[in-house]
Amino acid sequence: MFIIQKRIGKFSAAHRIQGHPKCSFLHGHDFHVSIEIEYTEYLPSSGLVLDFALFAPLKDALLRYDHRTLLDFNDPLFLELHDSSVRTSLVQFAYPPTTECIAQRLFAEFKGLLWQRISRTVRLKSVTVLEGDGDGATFRE
Ligand SMILES: [Zn+2]
Repeated sequence: MFIIQKRIGKFSAAHRIQGHPKCSFLHGHDFHVSIEIEYTEYLPSSGLVLDFALFAPLKDALLRYDHRTLLDFNDPLFLELHDSSVRTSLVQFAYPPTTECIAQRLFAEFKGLLWQRISRTVRLKSVTVLEGDGDGATFRE
């Protein structure tokens, strides 16, 4: 078995976590995103499990989060901004936009993007999201 690692990229975004003593204030991070791919067969004669160019759509997907404000739609700030002229910068979450939740959301998005592009022997194993200082979370199915 091989585990292939790929740093997909980063995006800069604002968020806040309601109820948290410090993180409930709107603030921003550079969110660094990487993935692991699991390959369960013998190494092909090419010596490559897959071409890293395969991951270009994942990098493009991060643009939907770049320079945006990530908020739980239950957050009163979400409603206030949604009705204002800055609403196009909002990304709605159904839960607090922690690194855990961002990793889980990106896992689902990336899995969908990769579904038709990779074989049965290759699967998305994990998505890791780190805030600028290196704290973060990994989601695995
Ligand atoms: Zn934060």
